Amino acid sequence: MNQENEKISFTEAIRWQGRSWKVLGSLCPSLFISGILYEVSNAAIPLVEVWLSARILNELVSERDPRILFRLVVIQLVSSAVLAAGRALLLRWKNYEEAVCSQGVEKIYIDKMIGMDFENIDSQYVYDTYSQICQSDNWGGWGLKDSIYRTAQMAGQLARIVGGVGLSVTLFASKVPVDGGYGWLNHPLCLVVILGILLFVTLFSFVCSDKANGCVDKASGEIMLSNRFFAFFGNMCTERERAADLRVYEQQENVCNPYMERMDMFRRGGVLAKTFAGPMGLWNGLSASLSAILTGAVYLFVCMKAWAGAFGVGSIAQYVGAITSLFLGLTNLLRSLGVMRFNAAYLKNTFAFLDIPDKMYQGSRPIEGTADNRTAAGKGLPDQPASNKEFEIEFRDVSFKYPGSQDYALRHVTMAFKMGRRTAVVGMNGSGKTTFIKLLCRMYDPTEGQILLNGVDIRQYRYSDYIRLFSVVFQDFVLFALPLGENVAGVKDYDRERVKECLEKAGFSRRLDKMPDGLDTYLYKDLDKEGVEVSGGEAQKIAIARTLYKDAPFVILDEPTAALDPVAEMEIYSKFNDIIEDKTAVYISHRLSSCQFCDEILVFDQGRIVQRGSHQILVADTKGKYCEMWTAQAQYYQDGEQKFAPL
Ligand code: ADP
Repeated sequence: MNQENEKISFTEAIRWQGRSWKVLGSLCPSLFISGILYEVSNAAIPLVEVWLSARILNELVSERDPRILFRLVVIQLVSSAVLAAGRALLLRWKNYEEAVCSQGVEKIYIDKMIGMDFENIDSQYVYDTYSQICQSDNWGGWGLKDSIYRTAQMAGQLARIVGGVGLSVTLFASKVPVDGGYGWLNHPLCLVVILGILLFVTLFSFVCSDKANGCVDKASGEIMLSNRFFAFFGNMCTERERAADLRVYEQQENVCNPYMERMDMFRRGGVLAKTFAGPMGLWNGLSASLSAILTGAVYLFVCMKAWAGAFGVGSIAQYVGAITSLFLGLTNLLRSLGVMRFNAAYLKNTFAFLDIPDKMYQGSRPIEGTADNRTAAGKGLPDQPASNKEFEIEFRDVSFKYPGSQDYALRHVTMAFKMGRRTAVVGMNGSGKTTFIKLLCRMYDPTEGQILLNGVDIRQYRYSDYIRLFSVVFQDFVLFALPLGENVAGVKDYDRERVKECLEKAGFSRRLDKMPDGLDTYLYKDLDKEGVEVSGGEAQKIAIARTLYKDAPFVILDEPTAALDPVAEMEIYSKFNDIIEDKTAVYISHRLSSCQFCDEILVFDQGRIVQRGSHQILVADTKGKYCEMWTAQAQYYQDGEQKFAPL
């Protein structure tokens, strides 16, 4: 979407605004109420004060009755104090609701992201749309949040208009004595002229501010791009995983700074500064001068009527205040409508994201014995753990293309996982190993063919039940900056003994003994300054412990040992059979030597299973892919004789 090119009609803008009200009305109704009340009080309080002041001044220049004056002054003081306190309370309430609602709006996006089909997360369109939402929000609070503030502000403008009309009715109704020579001031034409000027200045002022906003609109595309650069290069410096590269290659100096310097948007004397100082400033200045002319004309008219005896001089402040309020209310209401239309483009983008359809079929068939095994002992544990059940998964002539891709990543894959057996998946980079696992976990559905669980297409099952069958350590797994125990358990309330046991099995017990707060030690320093940094290998052990704690019947290790040193790898391998106990294990590796213990080895090449069998059978086939890879890798391990004996 190009916001800079998008001109949305008022009808369409109101439709988007209405949709936004629907979403936010149920999410944060209190913010609407507190926001509207605050803006209305903001508009009404000055009018109340000016009305009371006029009463006091009129009394001072007429009867000068001390009792009445005293009463009026007390009312003025008390009402000012009460109204100011009320406004402060409303502001606090509104601020509180804003903070809560802000989190609520974030949660809308988070829920959408987490709930969407995995293939959507991979899509460039989803990434772009979501990035634009974040950038627009960072840049000017555009999108859902703006629609709430705009609503409250429009309510405030309406209150200004109603108050202004209410307080200025008597200006036109009060008649000047005809014998003083100013009788013409009673003529209806005067009312028409004043209202005409008011209307003209209001509309002209709106046009000026629209032109001023147009200057920013024109630059909005560039502003968004610059924001994107700023966000990217700004965040880059704080990302731990980039810190080493940044320093070694001096990327800050050589890459980031030149890019930042080339951006002409936010610099002193840059595009935005020139826009503010140039055309935008001129239009805003013109709008301000016109409103000063209106105030002058109103003053003149009101003073002449007071001079001619239509009302007391005290009322001058009231009428000037009332007409100014009416003018401000009208101008700002028109501006708010313009901004509402401007924001509609952002709302449209927001709903384009929220409306991204999830195409994957969601079955409802339950899988027995798949309750969450992660809560603390005794809580929520299934009668019979899933790991004790019989599950057999079969790929039946499965082919798969990634969305938008012409090439097959998998081709005619047919195989079955037998309970309790270890299967290795080996092959060169890009041969389809990870894709195979993604399909197994139903992150994508096959383009052709079927995957069956106990003879039933996996699409028929409830996904939350199905995914509980798997514990996976992905190559690019991520740990949280949370306590170690919570990382392993994946829940807050967990079984500490079982977590320790899993860490021990994963070879982490010696490191655990050194953790200052044991399982309660925070990983990394994001949330706790005493947090502990763990190495890549240690992180991998924690991730392996996490798979064990989940206690799912299928354990998948997608090259989990890539970052382990050989000794640690040996430690893990030698314990491997114990670690996974009787689970069905799928083991992906580029080190063929590690796969010998597996019951079956699947050799992938260009998306196809080109060979299968035990290590002995495969290595004996000297013309096969496995033997070719084995011989190539053996050179790393052997130097005349085998140095690093594969397990
Ligand atoms: P391996 O795990 O064996 O290295 P992958 O399963 O990751 O291989 O990749 C198999 C093929 O699918 C490769 O040609 C790769 O480029 C392609 N591929 C992987 N992920 C995507 C994706 N998200 N979109 C499009 N193509 C992809």
